[in-house]
Amino acid sequence: MQSRKTPRVLYIAGYSRSGSTIMDMVLNGHPDVASTGELTFLHDDAADTTLTCSCGAIFRDCPVYGDWLADRPDGEGEVVRRVESRANLDQLIAGHIADGDCTAYRAYALSLFNHVAAKHDAEVIVDSSKSAKDAAGRPIALARLGGLDVRVLHLTRDPRAVANSYLQSGSNWVLEGRRKPRPFDTLRPVMGWMLANKISQRIGQALGPDRYMHVRYEDFQRDPATVLGRIGTFADLETGELGRAVTNGKAFEAGHNVGGNRTRLAPQVVSLSPKPVPRLPMAHSAALRCVCGRTARKFGYV
Ligand SMILES: [Zn+2]
Repeated sequence: MQSRKTPRVLYIAGYSRSGSTIMDMVLNGHPDVASTGELTFLHDDAADTTLTCSCGAIFRDCPVYGDWLADRPDGEGEVVRRVESRANLDQLIAGHIADGDCTAYRAYALSLFNHVAAKHDAEVIVDSSKSAKDAAGRPIALARLGGLDVRVLHLTRDPRAVANSYLQSGSNWVLEGRRKPRPFDTLRPVMGWMLANKISQRIGQALGPDRYMHVRYEDFQRDPATVLGRIGTFADLETGELGRAVTNGKAFEAGHNVGGNRTRLAPQVVSLSPKPVPRLPMAHSAALRCVCGRTARKFGYV
């Protein structure tokens, strides 16, 4: 088989409900890009035969992931979880990872991303695993342990819209049967938004300014062609045609996506104007002001 260049990784960092699923689907519309959704959960989801890839197959039967999963050593998923977890982030940034984990993680990262790139003949793999506690360190691990060319696209959405989405429809993981509802579930996004976005900024500082860009989802909705142009410059992709397609109302389909929002299961059109900022119940509004206020103002959400 002809050897090919290791793909670039465009990593979507940030919190859930921030538009990452639709951004992932739009980028998947580029001929040189393959999107993968929350790729960090491939091992976990493959072990559960009630969960499927967005192609509809269980992961072990998926034409993209099936043969890769069949060849992976037992316990590899545990190494991935241990290395990427939020609890391990300080150690990861400081470079204090056990040699055995470094070796196993590097083998995992290179084999998976090269495999996905070869299946799709893609130059860029979009990984939308984001920055919650299980995958907080993933972009650092992919770059430093995996040796991959990782560029972090930090996507944010107004925390009031994120909290409102949670209030309206509940946790994606509860909806998908991955966990049971917990007390105060609707207040979880308050702390989650702040932590995930702080971590994304920290990842950006660790990787350096040429490896990090911040995009507000609302700006993408208002002017998709310009924002996609910025992302294209950042990821070395020509995105003119993609920008025109979004502006003209094209419906985009998911690639072979792991996890993520259920909207990935049907083609999606980008809504070209953000919804008005919702009014939240008083407890949520106060919690957001206290916990997220400073970070939200920094991103221009006032
Ligand atoms: Zn699939």
